[in-house]
Amino acid sequence: MLQTNKKFKLRILFSFVLIAAGIYLFKSTDTRERQVTVIQTSDIHSVVIGKKGGMLKLAAAVKKCIKENGGYDKCLLVDCGDLFQGTFEGAETKGQITVPIFNKIQFDAFIPGNHDFDFGRKSFIKLTEQLNCDIIAANLKVKNICSKIIPWKIYKKNGKKIAVIGMTNPNIDYWLWGKRYKGIKVVPIEKVLRKTLTEVLDRKPDFIILAAHQGLYQSKRYPKGSNLINIAWKFPQIDLILGAHSHKTIPGKLLAGRTVFVEPGAYAEYFSKIKINFKNTKKRISTRIVSTAAYKPIKMNNKINVLEKLKNSKLENISNKDRPVCNLIPFAMKRYAKTQAAICSISKNRNKLRIKNYGDLFKLIPYEDKVIVIYLTGQELKLLTKKYLEYIKNCKYKTLLIAGLQIDYKNLKKTDSIKLLSKNRKIFIRNDKVYSVAVNSFDMAGAGNRLELLRKFGKDNSVKKIETNIFIRKALLKFINIHKCMRF
Ligand SMILES: [Zn+2]
Repeated sequence: MLQTNKKFKLRILFSFVLIAAGIYLFKSTDTRERQVTVIQTSDIHSVVIGKKGGMLKLAAAVKKCIKENGGYDKCLLVDCGDLFQGTFEGAETKGQITVPIFNKIQFDAFIPGNHDFDFGRKSFIKLTEQLNCDIIAANLKVKNICSKIIPWKIYKKNGKKIAVIGMTNPNIDYWLWGKRYKGIKVVPIEKVLRKTLTEVLDRKPDFIILAAHQGLYQSKRYPKGSNLINIAWKFPQIDLILGAHSHKTIPGKLLAGRTVFVEPGAYAEYFSKIKINFKNTKKRISTRIVSTAAYKPIKMNNKINVLEKLKNSKLENISNKDRPVCNLIPFAMKRYAKTQAAICSISKNRNKLRIKNYGDLFKLIPYEDKVIVIYLTGQELKLLTKKYLEYIKNCKYKTLLIAGLQIDYKNLKKTDSIKLLSKNRKIFIRNDKVYSVAVNSFDMAGAGNRLELLRKFGKDNSVKKIETNIFIRKALLKFINIHKCMRF
């Protein structure tokens, strides 16, 4: 139940009121004061039950909010993506665990996020077709999808026309590589926004929302045209931007002097509550972030208990005494892909994880990346390792793991960021020979445009590559299981 004491008031992180003085495209004849409440979630990342949040608590919190604000007819519910992936439960069910709870909340619109494609195009289609709401993304095309992805929609709420323009993350291509993702096409937001907005304005909406799986700040590594601050300046017709992806809680920020931006954090710990007050030609917007922590989770029949049990079941043959388990990842990649070498990187905070059960193994490798085999000449391989070393040097939170290769470190200070493994079976790279190397599919996509050379190799048909069916997490599990009584 909602606590009405001071503690709860403290949880409302921020609230502000904006008066949009009669800047409007047409004169409304409706003089009655009307209110519409927008409820926004994002980056739920398949968290069903969490200490501070989760979908079951969110369902209870949203239900109460809807009741207090005049019911579904006066509330607009939008989720801004990254729903299906992110937990052990999400991975085991390929996102399915989230679907019934999401439908129970009765969202109006879902904007896909980058991680919603992680299980591949076919899974994305299967999952989104089960959602009982509109899928909105003007900058996304998915091949062979039956239920249509629409660019925008006008919702009639409390007699007012609220337009929602959806945009998925425009940089998916820099993270996902392989057959699974063929037939998914995204473009920068600005490329489609002008045309979409013209269509929307033709319908004379009372309020325009841009709902994007995109944070307020975008790294310079990515293509231009999706920076939301610039978009707010260029498209003053947009009243409200619902952001996502950065996992930040931004309870209300004014962009370009008139557009309100909100972002509700992640893991269903918060939702954004935006009240729009319409009176004559004026629109007053007040925003806040509401915590779901204090709510009692709703009861639902799902597989969560079975999955919890599996998550906590112990992994045999594992010892953390001598070396971190992550050191085994390139060995597992190399062994099952049958390559001469393997290169991968891992976040330093995962590096030292104690691995006891299946849940820990998921935490070590939380993504659905596959092993890709690439064939490179000695010269190309030398260049690639050099680029990997530069990447790790610039990306301070990552460690590079290399198995099977001898690298010239003359000009490099040895740090804990680089681990050369299997020192006694190393290969001395010769320029004229061709080598088989196992890499991660995420790296092949360019690791968020940090590994441009590998991205180039990934797109170059003259460079031989084989996409294996080996998922890196599964390869590691198999490797651990085979090596009985292992101490490493
Ligand atoms: Zn995201």
